[in-house]
Amino acid sequence: MSLAAKTAVVTGSTSGIGLAIARAFAKEGANIVINGFGDAAAIEAERAGIEKDFGVKAIYDGADMSKPAEITAMIANAEKTFGSVDLLVNNAGVQFVSPIEDFPPEKFEQIIAINLASAFYTIRAAVPGMKARKWGRIINTASAHSLVASPFKSAYVTAKHGLAGLTKTVALELATFGITANCISPGYVWTPLVEKQIPDTMKARNMTKEQVMNDVLLAAQPTKQFVTVDELAALAVFLASDSAKQITGANISMDGGWTAA
Ligand code: NAD
Repeated sequence: MSLAAKTAVVTGSTSGIGLAIARAFAKEGANIVINGFGDAAAIEAERAGIEKDFGVKAIYDGADMSKPAEITAMIANAEKTFGSVDLLVNNAGVQFVSPIEDFPPEKFEQIIAINLASAFYTIRAAVPGMKARKWGRIINTASAHSLVASPFKSAYVTAKHGLAGLTKTVALELATFGITANCISPGYVWTPLVEKQIPDTMKARNMTKEQVMNDVLLAAQPTKQFVTVDELAALAVFLASDSAKQITGANISMDGGWTAA
């Protein structure tokens, strides 16, 4: 139970990678703030499941990661409820796929807000408490698209490259305070986010579902396998551990070799 008495806020943790990270931190003994959208009964089942399975406390905060005031209030609510925010995982993210000349400006701005600016606001709000306690772990779910680009994903690639830059900056600022800041950069992980972008990619590239899966998604991934959410959660647990305290400002790929090419 290496994270006992610590509190983790995981944005976008009602599904996919965020939920796996929240559960993995709970397994290590941390109290959890889950966040994200979805069916209220399903979210309550996930929250209650974390408490029941791991014997920790979990609350749900429905803050919209595109709204700075809600983000700041979420961090304050976590600190008020549990006394601290020790682990912050900026994981909420959305995708939109379109040729740039047709890319709706409001979609571009939404992706920058949720996938990039939200991390600025959570970090800004959580750092004073981390500094006072001289301990903190900031983990940003970036992407292989923080290192390389793909066509038709202008907003997402821009946001993820920005997130990698934000992570490095924050790591330098916090290096002497016992706080690390790192990116985890997955390749393709089988989650609803990937599943949902298949129809748009089919349209943009004029392909069948099978062609998108094999020729677009796994084409980039030399292992020809999707990353799993549990593999990513294990990496997050390692980054939270004492053994990882000298890892800061890093962008750690878990992409089946994609960005080695
Ligand atoms: P997902 O769709 O399963 O989860 C996304 C989460 O973000 C959900 O909980 C959703 O409710 C939440 N969310 C969306 N908009 C929000 C908002 N405005 N406010 C609060 N929460 C919001 O997707 P996932 O694949 O688990 O993605 C998680 C992160 O991993 C994202 O940042 C994504 O870019 C990144 N990522 C995913 C993959 C992949 O292949 N799935 C690859 C690289 C990076």
